[in-house]
Amino acid sequence: MDNYKVFDNEYIAHTYGRFDVLITKGKGSLLYDEGGKEYIDFGSGIAVNSFGVCDDEWKNAVIEQLDKVSHTSNLYYSSPQAKLAKLLCDRTGMKKVFFANSGAEANECAIKVARKYSSDKYGDGRSTIVTLVNSFHGRTITTLSATGQDVFHKHFGPFTEGFKFAHAGDKDEINALVKEGGVCGIMIELVQGEGGVIPLDKDYVDEIARLCGENDILLIVDEVQTGNGRTGKLYAFENYGIKPDVFTTAKGLAGGLPFGACIMGEKTENTLGKGDHGSTFGGNPICAAGAYSILSRIDDELLRGVTERSGLIKKKLEAVPEVESVTGLGLMLGVSVKGAAATDVVNKAIEKGCIPLTAKTKVRLLPALNIPMPVLEKGLDILIDAIKECVAEQNKDGGFATSER
Ligand SMILES: *Cc1c(COP(=O)(O)O)cnc(C)c1O
Repeated sequence: MDNYKVFDNEYIAHTYGRFDVLITKGKGSLLYDEGGKEYIDFGSGIAVNSFGVCDDEWKNAVIEQLDKVSHTSNLYYSSPQAKLAKLLCDRTGMKKVFFANSGAEANECAIKVARKYSSDKYGDGRSTIVTLVNSFHGRTITTLSATGQDVFHKHFGPFTEGFKFAHAGDKDEINALVKEGGVCGIMIELVQGEGGVIPLDKDYVDEIARLCGENDILLIVDEVQTGNGRTGKLYAFENYGIKPDVFTTAKGLAGGLPFGACIMGEKTENTLGKGDHGSTFGGNPICAAGAYSILSRIDDELLRGVTERSGLIKKKLEAVPEVESVTGLGLMLGVSVKGAAATDVVNKAIEKGCIPLTAKTKVRLLPALNIPMPVLEKGLDILIDAIKECVAEQNKDGGFATSER
């Protein structure tokens, strides 16, 4: 048998700290490695596999489109794109969609929209976009520049100008930043995902919405991770009762295919005209057909199921003494463990047959929206065992170290 781990190490750029597992197949929320060992998937490929892997209905929609046409070009009309764009607008009250291939690209589009809207209306010099400290908006140079975490602002400069950062929750600070002038957009994640699964306070979000409304600043919501049912609503802004001028999404949109979208409301529906933006692959028919299959099935019943699963996870984990807190919304949850590192817990869980993620110091859970209840319960039992074992081991080592001092 070929040793793919060796090939990987030899031939793939070392940009990822991989966990020691090679998944070769799966079905729904169950994954199998090359040796046939089964794992319960609590990560969904980072919130991508909305209905798990190889979901039948999704697979059939994708295959059906593959048999028709796999790619044409954005120079021509496309029925999968048109159908999907209508569905996205019908379900959100938004007006226009631009299709991209990833979250970063969707955010690039939103940034362009904000700057062009402002330059069309107010001329030059109103190009600043305020984002939040601890945010994550992508890996391109400009979305890195938009990302409010210093660790991302190394090595790759010069970065794109025109971003300012505000601390989540500090209303005075964001008011002051807006007063400085030149702001055309405020871009936020409603639950900071990569930043540690931290939901914003409703109060603060209301203040941002008010500031945006009163100053004709575009409210941009990055729903790359929170979107497509993840938080128990189709889009997370529904949890907050706000209406963004622009929102972006990607990860779970096409259920496992690379896809992104920048969705524009009334103010910005005509901001991008012919030649202002484009993408060779964006809106690819296969991805669009996959996305339609996913989005059309995220209905009230499915969303109730997300909330129910979320409640079960919180209840079970909050009863564990080693768990300090569970944060997040819906099936986007972060678990703080008292006295054990998140990566240790994840490694232990993987050993035992469950694959969660990390986000900063937390264990992050992003299971499929339709993970069957018994599978979820079994996965939680494994995770709780892993947490307990890690903390016990840590206490043993920690106790020794402390007595040495
Ligand atoms: C993952 C993520 C991105 C980047 O998406 P890519 O598809 O990796 O480019 C942007 N914003 C948020 C909130 C994300 O979670």
